[in-house]
Amino acid sequence: MPAYLTHKLASTAAFEAIENKQIKQIAADHMPEYLSGAQGTDFVYFDHFYLLPASYKTKVYGWLAHRARPAQYLVKATEYVKSHYSDTLAAYFFGFLHHYCLDKYLHAHVYKDSDSLSSHTYLEQALDVMYADEHFHLDAREVNRATELLKLITNADEINAFHEHMAAAVYEGYTLPPRSLQRSYKWWAWGMKPTYKPSRLTRFFLRIFNIFLSFDIYAFIYKKKEEVQGLHDYDKYFKLIRKANDESICYMQMVFDYIHGKRHISVLESAFYNISCLGRPIVSREERKAFRRAYRKAPIIK
Ligand SMILES: [Zn+2]
Ligand SMILES: [Zn+2]
Repeated sequence: MPAYLTHKLASTAAFEAIENKQIKQIAADHMPEYLSGAQGTDFVYFDHFYLLPASYKTKVYGWLAHRARPAQYLVKATEYVKSHYSDTLAAYFFGFLHHYCLDKYLHAHVYKDSDSLSSHTYLEQALDVMYADEHFHLDAREVNRATELLKLITNADEINAFHEHMAAAVYEGYTLPPRSLQRSYKWWAWGMKPTYKPSRLTRFFLRIFNIFLSFDIYAFIYKKKEEVQGLHDYDKYFKLIRKANDESICYMQMVFDYIHGKRHISVLESAFYNISCLGRPIVSREERKAFRRAYRKAPIIK
């Protein structure tokens, strides 16, 4: 769900609602990492986004991570955070847990309410506009994603190492190309730059450019609230966002307790319910499908 603004604002709302003072302090002290965690693995989709086969291995990791079995992915990630502990990594992972919850709840409906990648993107961008307006009195068109995204690349080596570990841990033998995080964020920011307050000429060029893109960048131009407000049942989504916020705080607490030796890993295994980031229950057949396609499209070079 590369809906930058919804992920950012909802994770901010969740942050405000965190009651555990230590967790809140860690996130507050490392806000760029927390917010970058809240963007989850969406960043990888933007690595050389203009051409689908370019940086395929990086993109496929996002595809895999969104389809991963949470009881496996998140447990392995939690173990990694504990064994490589730093407050920055913990803050990143708290945000990451929020990304998972938001994706899980919203995607089940986004997929139901859209019928293509393009309409999926339009819906999520409209949700960005409406959520920002109704809950934060913020005009999404004033948000410059390009500059905000670049500010999120802090302690990137540490976080990149986390993703390199995760790619190999969950999908044995799968190696994420080096510095995928840094590179993808820069491409993401580069892609978002022309969508910020575009002139008529920029719009024209974006439309032309869009024809050749694998990603519908034109859909990322934020619209006026009046243009999107009647298009979807936003209240349904707002309720799901609240649910995701509450659940993510519970997960943060559980992970925090595990790191401090107060919970056994098996508690997390059963707590991370097996609904993927796409809002789909994981059955083993689905899992095998992801493997087969990924390895065929991005074979391991030994
Ligand atoms: Zn999505
Ligand atoms: Zn996502």
